[in-house]
Amino acid sequence: MKKLTDAVQKYEKLILDAERYIWKNPETGYKEYKTSKYMADTFRELGYDLVMAEGITGFYTVIDTGRPGPEVLVLGELDSIICPEHPESDPETGAVHSCGHNAQCAALVGVAAALKEPGVLDDLSGRIRLCAVPAEELLEIEYRNNLIKEGKIKYMGGKVEFLSRGYFDDVDIAFMLHTSNTYHSANGGVGCMAKSITYKGKASHAGGSPWNGKNALYAATCGLNAVNAIRETFKESDVIRVHPIITSGGSMVNAIPETATIESYVRGATFEAIESANKKVNQALCGAALSLGCNIDIADIPGYAPLYNNKDLLNLTKEAADIAIPEREFFHSEYFSSGSTDMGDLASVMPAVHPYAGGSKGTSHGNDYYIEDPVAACVDSAKLQVGMLYLLLSNGAKRAKDIIDNFEPKFPSKKAYLDYLDSLNRSGDRIEYTENSAIVNL
Ligand SMILES: [Zn+2]
Ligand SMILES: [Zn+2]
Repeated sequence: MKKLTDAVQKYEKLILDAERYIWKNPETGYKEYKTSKYMADTFRELGYDLVMAEGITGFYTVIDTGRPGPEVLVLGELDSIICPEHPESDPETGAVHSCGHNAQCAALVGVAAALKEPGVLDDLSGRIRLCAVPAEELLEIEYRNNLIKEGKIKYMGGKVEFLSRGYFDDVDIAFMLHTSNTYHSANGGVGCMAKSITYKGKASHAGGSPWNGKNALYAATCGLNAVNAIRETFKESDVIRVHPIITSGGSMVNAIPETATIESYVRGATFEAIESANKKVNQALCGAALSLGCNIDIADIPGYAPLYNNKDLLNLTKEAADIAIPEREFFHSEYFSSGSTDMGDLASVMPAVHPYAGGSKGTSHGNDYYIEDPVAACVDSAKLQVGMLYLLLSNGAKRAKDIIDNFEPKFPSKKAYLDYLDSLNRSGDRIEYTENSAIVNL
């Protein structure tokens, strides 16, 4: 393993330069043009041939050791979040890497550079796929929903999009290290459904003839209150989180708002819990529309699958950390996060793990988030990742093969999983008014 970690060390400057460049050029999901290009240029300079994602950002490359064995996918996420209050956010877009994905990309550069050093693959079998993946953060739902309508993407998250396109066919195991304040792992995290909601009323002069209008904004605020009123019906064990925002609520003050729009997630620990809570949320939202005689279009869009980290891979991560980066404390915590990631989608069909690398400080997604220790966040993260690859693929890839044999997938196949996701998709007006009644479709 030392050959590999030493190889990472050799590229410290390349890694740290990537961290700074990407921090200074934050871009949100499916818009990571500069970031994807920077990463692709860096990979090509290292001697890689790349498969670029068609029509969207991101790419992958496959390294073959020349000896038979399983294929391990290692990912780095390209996208930023939006937090205009952050002092170093992009003044135009408000984008900033307050989730530390810039450090993940830098670490992936380190992994890529190390794997090109002579002799490092000698002890390994099988293949390694390195992927710079777009769009992990689930935001700008309206923008992504439009990309879906235009046929440019099928899914909100970059990993499930890549999965559906066949970019991860032949992959047997997947992992990535997410940036955090400490080196640790958890059991997993909730999945989610994304929602794009439009209340539809009727415009009228707000002073002259408000009685002719139907106020979509008031319907939307009633909807939010109704959602708040059902929160105590959510079971703790289901870890349901519903956190809507109003994205528009009228265009001028002297007209009754004709439309009001809301984005939300419904998060939960299992798909069953998400579906059940989502139905209740729709009921609350529709009831509010009904009370004002408005209509409501709800687009239910599959977000991310609940993440259940593979136990064998959790053990392997800790083992690799103790050897590859002994000076960093790595701990496992038996918690289930209420945050979501599309690593959950990959973990639904293959053994996968999503541990955390330290080195950042402040609040994730907040205005005080920084990469405090880039060596910890990027260089040591790359060392841990090559350490994991070594444990998986050395010795004839025995560990990787055992993990694959032990794995019980949540879904029998990629197709079965994607078919399930597709079955969650629904959109359109939910209320049908007739003369003296209304039919509500939840
Ligand atoms: Zn995040
Ligand atoms: Zn993140």
